[in-house]
Amino acid sequence: MKTLIKVNNLKKSFFTQAGELRVLKGIDLSVQSGEMIAIVGASGVGKSTFLHILGTLDRPTEGNVLLDDIDLFSLPERELSKVRNRHIGFVFQFHYLLPEFTALENILMPVIIYRNQGSEIETLYNRAISLMKELDIYERKDHRPGELSGGEQQRVAVARALILEPKIVLADEPTGNLDTVTGEELFKLLVNINRNKGTTFVIVTHNISLAQRCTRILRMIDGRLFEERS
Ligand code: ADP
Ligand code: MG
Repeated sequence: MKTLIKVNNLKKSFFTQAGELRVLKGIDLSVQSGEMIAIVGASGVGKSTFLHILGTLDRPTEGNVLLDDIDLFSLPERELSKVRNRHIGFVFQFHYLLPEFTALENILMPVIIYRNQGSEIETLYNRAISLMKELDIYERKDHRPGELSGGEQQRVAVARALILEPKIVLADEPTGNLDTVTGEELFKLLVNINRNKGTTFVIVTHNISLAQRCTRILRMIDGRLFEERS
């Protein structure tokens, strides 16, 4: 397997009126292509902060993140946002779908932002359709988010994260807003995508039984990551 992501001595502090809040205190991590990693840990420990930095939505105070040997935070902002849009997929606890657009349009949104042109559009459209079938939302293609159940909305968000075939998908408590059964179903779909397509995932979850289905579990304690099961 090939190393996709390398995190070196990553630190993050927030500077607030109350002073410096040290959240991440030196994280080292290698993610191999095809892994499905679960990150667990107490609320407020820094899991989201870490995932945001992995996804380049925030910058570290110290340390670096390499994606395919590219030192992400040394890139100019324009290049960095290109990498983010093209190679990193996000699924959050709340779906953040655009209410005025249909399920299909929401899934194609990253394509519009990435400005794919010409013949590629057809490929991407066909991929959106096949993702919708795979995620069992094809029947909801022309529905707006408000007309979908919570589970369906989240599956649209998953399809949107996958549409450009990113190198990695980062998911922050993707089942956190769903009931147990719906959450299980969603997680099963993520596992299938990992197994069938080899998509690499890093998933923050509170649910240990879901985490058990990942290839590796890491626990965040006091700003550091520990191997819980590999
Ligand atoms: P988790 O996802 O593990 O619940 P977070 O990463 O959201 O934890 O937060 C870790 C800590 O950092 C918390 O104490 C939180 O209040 C603090 N924090 C997060 N974002 C900010 C911010 N932008 N400014 C100041 N403090 C923050
Ligand atoms: Mg969080």
